[in-house]
Amino acid sequence: MNILVINCGSSSLKYRLIDIEKEHRLAKGLVERIGIEGSRIKHETTGKEEIKIEEPIEDHTKALELVLESIVHPEYGAVKSLDEIQAVGHRVVHGGEAFADSVIIDDDVMQALRDNIEIAPLHNPPNIMGIEACKKLMPDTKMVGVFDTAFHQTIPPVNYIYPIPYKYYEEHKIRVYGFHGTSHKYVTLRAAELLNKPVDEVNLITCHLGNGSSITAVKGGKSFDTSMGFTPLAGPLMGTRCGDIDPAIVTYLMDKENLTTSEINNILNKDSGALGVSGISSDFRDLENAATDGDERAQLALDIFERRVAKYIASYYGQLDHVDAIVFTAGVGENSEWNRRSIIEILGSLGLKIDHEKNKVRAKEELISAEDSSVKIFVIPTNEELMIAKETYELTK
Ligand code: AMP
Repeated sequence: MNILVINCGSSSLKYRLIDIEKEHRLAKGLVERIGIEGSRIKHETTGKEEIKIEEPIEDHTKALELVLESIVHPEYGAVKSLDEIQAVGHRVVHGGEAFADSVIIDDDVMQALRDNIEIAPLHNPPNIMGIEACKKLMPDTKMVGVFDTAFHQTIPPVNYIYPIPYKYYEEHKIRVYGFHGTSHKYVTLRAAELLNKPVDEVNLITCHLGNGSSITAVKGGKSFDTSMGFTPLAGPLMGTRCGDIDPAIVTYLMDKENLTTSEINNILNKDSGALGVSGISSDFRDLENAATDGDERAQLALDIFERRVAKYIASYYGQLDHVDAIVFTAGVGENSEWNRRSIIEILGSLGLKIDHEKNKVRAKEELISAEDSSVKIFVIPTNEELMIAKETYELTK
């Protein structure tokens, strides 16, 4: 069974075609600059050369047309006809409180997605456009929505209610939702396999550290607390996002600098975090290089990141009655020896110890804790696309 996985942004569309039985990627690709001058598609069928086509792509329907043509192309395609695609899995950022699991997309689900636009104005509209384009071009193919928020719907009220007047939760649905759920779920399932324990018995602290970062306390295989909140702005310092700050800073800065809501939003989402502190880059590789060359603010940005991640780990460690493993994943978590070492060193008083040789690993599954570490520490590369494909397969097989 082949599953097409679609991840739509406002001007981009990423896709993967996966043979789910073999867990094998048949093709992958990216459409960029949809609706903007210079639009292009990059497509690669596994085992064949990557092709690039530049042509005007005015909307998501046109983008998807090109994707489907590429997938079945006689020369560079991956399958002979679209009949070989049994279902499509769509990444949807915000499922709100409506979805605690993936669902087959029908008219009611589409309505619920539209209802959620208010709380996810940047992310849900392009996700909806992607689904609508697919429905138009593949009307008989089943579609599944897989939500970034779904894994976190098990978080109890004590961890999801904000201490502001309760009516704002009731009237505006302001609460912790949490994001990166598909990734946290994938590494949770994989860690349970590596630990050789039933998933509902594992307690973990999963650290998805990339451009955006979130840390999750997993209790009995379920999300119990997470660092992202009402939006993906909360948590540790991120590439360009501020993470947790005193909320009074927002109104103070708006007054002082005479800022509109969209200007302050931009500052906190795009000009802050590692970029804002270092003044150099949001990319952790650049920061590591600059810090090695003696740049103090790059070093400071890394120090803040590591300390804030460590604070979350310590807080979750304290909330779980035991911890089977700490897991590092995503761009920084999978690749950065420096950041993993520094985070674990801050937590030395908990008895966490890293094996420095094993910690050199990049983008590969590895147990990186020392033998006498109080808790096992794993690097587990995330695979959100495979997780989406698996959930789609389960619902449509
Ligand atoms: P993601 O959002 O998961 O794609 O992660 C992207 C981030 O991973 C980039 O901003 C990089 O800073 C970081 N990254 C990738 N490779 C490395 C590496 N070898 N060392 C440090 N950071 C890395």
